[in-house]
Parts: sequence; C-alpha cells; structure tokens
Amino acid sequence: MARHGILIVLSGPSGTGKGTICKELLAQNENLHYSISATTRSARPGEVNGVNYWFVAPDEFRTMVEQDELLEWAEVYGNCYGTPRRWVSDMLWSGHDVVLEIDTQGAMQIKKKFPQGVFVFIIPPSLKELEDRIVKRGADSPAVIAKRLGCVQGELGFATQYDYAVVNDEVATATAKIAAIIVAEKCRMERNSDLIEAIGKRGSID
Ligand code: 5GP
Repeated sequence: MARHGILIVLSGPSGTGKGTICKELLAQNENLHYSISATTRSARPGEVNGVNYWFVAPDEFRTMVEQDELLEWAEVYGNCYGTPRRWVSDMLWSGHDVVLEIDTQGAMQIKKKFPQGVFVFIIPPSLKELEDRIVKRGADSPAVIAKRLGCVQGELGFATQYDYAVVNDEVATATAKIAAIIVAEKCRMERNSDLIEAIGKRGSID
C-alpha cells in the first residue's frame, strides 16, 4: 500500500552537531532526504549552492515569503532561513522521509501546521563543548560565535516542546538513536491503521 513519508525535524543549538548527524543518517538511510533550506546568509568556504543551502538575496527571500513558497521561515542569528514548501510536500506524498535541520522558531511553526511530524532536539553534552566545537569549526567570526552562544539558553527553553531528546556526546551513538526513533515512528499505530483494515477486509496488506 502507498504510504506517505514522515517528516523529521532536528533542532539544537549551533555547534551541537546536527549537520554531522544528518549526514550520517542520510548515508545510512536511502529513503531519507534532506530538505535544502533557502537562506540570506553568505556561503561559508566549501558550501555549495543547492547542496548546503539555496543562497538567495534578501529581496528574493522576501518574494518567497510573499508568494507563500516557504513552509516555515525565521530570522536566526541575523539571517533569514526557510524551508521550501513544494519540495517537502512532494517528497512526503511520494513516500519519502524528509529531514529538516532547522531552528526552534521554525520547528514550532511546523509543529502547528504539521503535528504528525517527529520533533527531535539534539542536546550538547556541555556548553563548554559547544563553544569548543563552534570555535574549532572556524567558520564564524568571534562576533558571530558570541551571537550564536548568546542564543543557547533561549533555544534550550524550547526543548520540552520536542518529542525526543538526544544527547550528542558521540555522533555514531546519537545517529543510531535517531535512526531507531525513525523506525519506531514508522511503526506507530496511527500511521498504520489502514493495514489493519486491509488485512481484515481483504486478507492482505497489498
Ligand atoms: P547555519 O548558519 O549554522 O547553517 O544555521 C544557523 C541556524 O539556522 C541553525 O540552527 C539551523 O538549524 C537553522 N536553519 C537552517 N535552515 C533553516 C530553515 O530552513 N529554517 C529555520 N527556521 N532555521 C533553519
């Protein structure tokens, strides 16, 4: 029977390792697809348009918002980020699972519009570790790093709105936990009650 995919929303403070976990998850699960966000942030060295983000000018972003092309959007650390609506909905309808790596404001918007999403908050093992990771990444200026660290407490304040909490003390372990969450979520009765009906009425789930 045709099934819709599930939408997994991953959030956590900057430097928590969401990106690395996402890459691992995608490498292990070929039915899982990464939603490429649009952003007004400039590309970091090594980032590629259409791979990491759709890098757009502020007026282009504004047009996307006005034309309702974004499922959610938010201003994060001084730049705008948003999730393309059409791509996500086409993927889910065609049975693919989709992962969004977005901030807490965007996740709360999705939760209102799409409560059947699976919301996972990634927790850093310590604030010191978080700071070390952002600094080591070497991608941001000291002012940007300070801005990102200044947002951590606010972001943690949203954590209890999520369905799952996963500590990223080790990427492989955190990834395995999220993979297990995805498997369990796909087995939830409310996503599969049509199978019960089919086997009862027709003797087969096909
Ligand atoms: P970065 O600049 O480090 O790539 O991302 C900064 C923050 O923006 C991260 O918390 C990231 O999860 C979030 N972000 C990335 N894409 C989106 C999006 O489409 N929507 C929202 N709301 N946040 C996003």
